[in-house]
Amino acid sequence: MTFQELKELDSQYVLQTYGRNPIAIDHGRGATLYDVEGKEYIDFASGIGVLSVGTANPKWQAAIAAQAAKLGHISNLYYSEPYIRLAQQLCTRSGMAAAFFASGGGEANEGMIKLARKYSFDRYGEGRGTVLTLRNSFHGRTITTLAATGQEVFHNYFFPFTEGFRYADANDLNSLQDVSGHDVCAVLVELVQGEGGVLPLDKDYVQELAQLCEDRDWLLLVDEVQTGVGRTGSLFCFQQYGITPDVVSFAKGIAGGLPMSGILTNEKCRGVLTPGTHATTFGGNPVCAAAALAVLEILDEQTIADVREKGDYLRGRIEELDLPCLGKTRGMGLMIGVEVSEDFSNKELCARLNQAGLLCLTAGAGLRLLPPLTITREEMDKGLAILKDELS
Ligand SMILES: *Cc1c(COP(=O)(O)O)cnc(C)c1O
Repeated sequence: MTFQELKELDSQYVLQTYGRNPIAIDHGRGATLYDVEGKEYIDFASGIGVLSVGTANPKWQAAIAAQAAKLGHISNLYYSEPYIRLAQQLCTRSGMAAAFFASGGGEANEGMIKLARKYSFDRYGEGRGTVLTLRNSFHGRTITTLAATGQEVFHNYFFPFTEGFRYADANDLNSLQDVSGHDVCAVLVELVQGEGGVLPLDKDYVQELAQLCEDRDWLLLVDEVQTGVGRTGSLFCFQQYGITPDVVSFAKGIAGGLPMSGILTNEKCRGVLTPGTHATTFGGNPVCAAAALAVLEILDEQTIADVREKGDYLRGRIEELDLPCLGKTRGMGLMIGVEVSEDFSNKELCARLNQAGLLCLTAGAGLRLLPPLTITREEMDKGLAILKDELS
């Protein structure tokens, strides 16, 4: 079908909940994609940070095909090898103790919030169910994770929201103390706020926050839905902050494009969720778990170390271009924010780049780049050339 045909059918049969670019992607390889008319695009978006090993990675494809031919699904009333091996890999490489698998990021965060509330209930009884989160955060689109999201624009239309969340300013421990109280059970943070504008938290702040959580017996919940799985140049971002969360969530990049998410707990929290208290039908799906195992095999220590270098390279080259519409860059690894100068609209610049053949994203008031972690130098240079030509 042509783009026009697809667009018309979409508007007829699909709920119009997305602001889509006028592009229909058909296929690709690595960080190079093609639309239905054969036009080439360089991928600086990875979906939204999902295609961690690029499009149609051969090892990833082979793992999925082999698992699909063997066992495509089995309920969680039975054991199966892929999710068990995946849990082992994730725990071994992160230093965490045990995993629970789900399908999406918001769902994983709901699991963390449930775990924190039950941890507190088991120890202290009722009345200690409040979770502190940070302004400008993003934790998902379910009713509860919208409430957890510290941005007023998300607290509309869908009343009543789940109660039990209060918000503090990022990088400000006093602000957190001001909204704390005897009803608090946990603090939930993104170490690099993604949707909010690619804003890394200060290392000192995070370490002091971890100490405060320990002192008060609040659980430290880290949302690594976007920062996890090598994106920032370590398997999990918390590994670069010198802290260990009580619970960490992951999703987007874990299975390289298939829907999978989950949480990892430390030793202290492994026994909180007991049979019957938490479950999900698709959690730990064998095909998704096999894909995730392939992703983790591709993302070995060297490949993840290269992520930091690639990020430095992209940021350096973008700042060198010194384009009037762009400002400074920030972020960690291949999670990059680019400031957009006043008088320019990030949405408009992003749309123009997409149209010119460079898929990218916005976040906050800037541009956001989340290329596949396996992107090659040649693909980065092609993308940078498009950026330069389009925005000069
Ligand atoms: C994308 C994202 C989510 C939501 O994930 P879904 O898979 O869309 O439910 C939650 N937290 C963070 C930090 C995210 O980037």
